[in-house]
Amino acid sequence: NEPIHVVGGGLAGSEAAWQIAEAGIPVILHEMRPVRGTEAHKTDGLAELVCSNSFRSDDATANAVGVIHAEMRLAGSLIMATADKHQVPAGGALAVDREGFSAAVTQALGEHPRVTIERGEIDGLPPEDWGTTIVATGPLTAPSLAESIRKATGEDALAFFDAIAPIVHFDSIDMDKAWFQSRYDKVGPGGTGKDYVNCPLDRETYERFVAALVEGDRAEFKSWEGTPYFDGCLPIEVMAERGPETLRHGPMKPMGLTNAHDPEVKPYAVVQLRQDNALGTLYNMVGFQTKLKYGAQAEIFRMIPGLQNAEFARLGGLHRNTYLNSPVLLDGFLRLKARPHVRFAGQITGCEGYVESAAVGLMAGRFTAAERRGEAIPAPPQTTAMGALLAHITGGHLAHQEEGGKRSFQPMNVNFGLFAPLEPGAIQKPEGQKRFRGKEKAIAKKNALSRRALADFAAWLAGAETRQAAE
Ligand code: FAD
Repeated sequence: NEPIHVVGGGLAGSEAAWQIAEAGIPVILHEMRPVRGTEAHKTDGLAELVCSNSFRSDDATANAVGVIHAEMRLAGSLIMATADKHQVPAGGALAVDREGFSAAVTQALGEHPRVTIERGEIDGLPPEDWGTTIVATGPLTAPSLAESIRKATGEDALAFFDAIAPIVHFDSIDMDKAWFQSRYDKVGPGGTGKDYVNCPLDRETYERFVAALVEGDRAEFKSWEGTPYFDGCLPIEVMAERGPETLRHGPMKPMGLTNAHDPEVKPYAVVQLRQDNALGTLYNMVGFQTKLKYGAQAEIFRMIPGLQNAEFARLGGLHRNTYLNSPVLLDGFLRLKARPHVRFAGQITGCEGYVESAAVGLMAGRFTAAERRGEAIPAPPQTTAMGALLAHITGGHLAHQEEGGKRSFQPMNVNFGLFAPLEPGAIQKPEGQKRFRGKEKAIAKKNALSRRALADFAAWLAGAETRQAAE
């Protein structure tokens, strides 16, 4: 019974190691701290929370993060069990005492009879004679391992910063103001000539919008992050600062677009949104990467006609973050296609956040354990929060290769826009009620998505357990 190696003892690696050990297989967990540190970690504890102490919403009836919490609890997650034990009051959110949490994860793994913790840096992709290995080295993966991954996967396969444009839930866009059209009605591969959602701005709105961008509250880079601006990927507010016309000649140019609601009036500027997932439930704001603070983003972007009620699945950002172009590089079970003995987990795969990273660690651990037992387990379905996140990472994302071969896959938190749509008729107007208002309907939809996710996840787990018992 050869051990499975897990590299990186963060949120994902700790959860993956736990799942494998609990499945009866020995694990060696490699963590480089304290031999070598990262720019953000401060301790040598496993599963250290580098910033906030919040696991976000714990509402499993109407919030996608709450649903993934519940799925993880069903699957015996060490991270969730420990978070529950070290909870501190935080309203509807699950927040933890960070030191107690990390110490308890370290202790649980340290005392597990099938886990060995080895402290030291792994400075290259694990060799084949290690057998199946999980790499979960996170957003601040040590440089020598990152370089080795880059060599094995290609120049464009590993990013060191994410330049994230906001993503909007399609059903919150006002299509009485916006319209579908590709610039010059151009039909690209797989396109229809109506591939973009366009939001028009008149001169006055544009000028107010540019002024708001320039004045908006910004987040600063940490000194160790450097300033990763390069032309072609400038934050929208930096472009706005370069002059009032810059955006109108850049990402907001109105050329080749005719307002379907008012063809006689030429828009002064246009914001384009591009479909972001195969389901068509999410659209990203093209060219709108930004360092504006979240509150400022929501306020300023809702000035755009058509986006006045926009609900954001993700706001924009620009951070130091090492992550793979996963939809191209990984198979549906998180294995590196070029070296299938290596499986990735955590934020390096292109999820975002403590909880999501641990959830991907949980799936990687279970896939690896099943593989070792010679079982073929299916991936969790896209109706579940974990399956939806996995589909985003491994291929549910539509446009991971843009024109010219440029990558556009960006990290994402779990959200309902990634879930398979509900079956028609799944949400009904409550009996005896005349009207079913937008807000009530939206809540009913979230309730239905949450219920379906938990039922389907429980069925997925039961299937896995039945297969195991039959072995
Ligand atoms: P990590 O938790 O970072 O774990 C990776 C582990 O691998 C580390 O322990 C590291 O020491 C180790 N390692 C790296 N390279 C090697 C190597 N070569 N050999 C051996 N070990 C190695 N998410 C939130 O939800 N909320 C936040 O407030 C938040 N703030 C953040 C702030 C910063 C500055 C950063 C960088 C990220 C933040 N994130 C936040 C994202 C968060 O880091 C991740 O979501 C989460 O920690 C990632 O989990 P992980 O297991 O993938 O990586």
